[in-house]
Amino acid sequence: MQQAIGVFNPRRPCHENKIFALGAEILKMASMLIDMHIHTRLSPCSRLQIGEILAHARTRGLDGICITDHNLMDIRHVLAEGVQPDGLCVIFGMEYSTPQGDFLIFGPFEKITPELPADQLLRHVQECGGLAVAAHPFRKARPVDERLIRQGLCGAIESCNGRNTPLENAAADQWRQRCGLTACGGSDAHTLPELGACATRFCVPIQTRADLIQALKQGRCRPEIPSFGKAAAI
Ligand SMILES: [Zn+2]
Ligand SMILES: [Zn+2]
Repeated sequence: MQQAIGVFNPRRPCHENKIFALGAEILKMASMLIDMHIHTRLSPCSRLQIGEILAHARTRGLDGICITDHNLMDIRHVLAEGVQPDGLCVIFGMEYSTPQGDFLIFGPFEKITPELPADQLLRHVQECGGLAVAAHPFRKARPVDERLIRQGLCGAIESCNGRNTPLENAAADQWRQRCGLTACGGSDAHTLPELGACATRFCVPIQTRADLIQALKQGRCRPEIPSFGKAAAI
């Protein structure tokens, strides 16, 4: 008879259950849950202060956050990127808007020429070793042009966005599966209640922007709705 799958199995001797529980705990410790899409007050549409984000990220179950303000990375003047004193990993990126869609971009840059068309932007990100995520590709008001994905210009697709409807997220995930691209998630928080509503589980440790880019390129992650997000969705 097939053994029940899970950490606790009443058929297993007690000491084996303890070993399985320890293994699950180690796996959880080795992985990291990161909200990859957050806007601070530096974005004109957000009310979130960086201090509030830092104070609440841990209680939302997050191990890391990406600050992705609209078209700028001025957060670097306010906060040091990297692992904070409480262990929270903070990575800087940017949400860059184009007429062909919005993209979360991560790379060795802090400023990008404004108002580039999407193909020029995405080629630039690729050429400097960075990675672009197609943000909320099926949102009615801001869809992403599918031709850019077919041209191989995006490294990942945000298939779980905290501000999307379930239908928009489902459409994004079906599309992502057809393209064979890495899936990730982020809350797109503009207010405190939204922080951590969607996130990305990485199965490798992330401490720097370069770690994040490499893990995304290697597909070592998957979107996840944290338990906080599930409660908020009810
Ligand atoms: Zn916004
Ligand atoms: Zn956003």
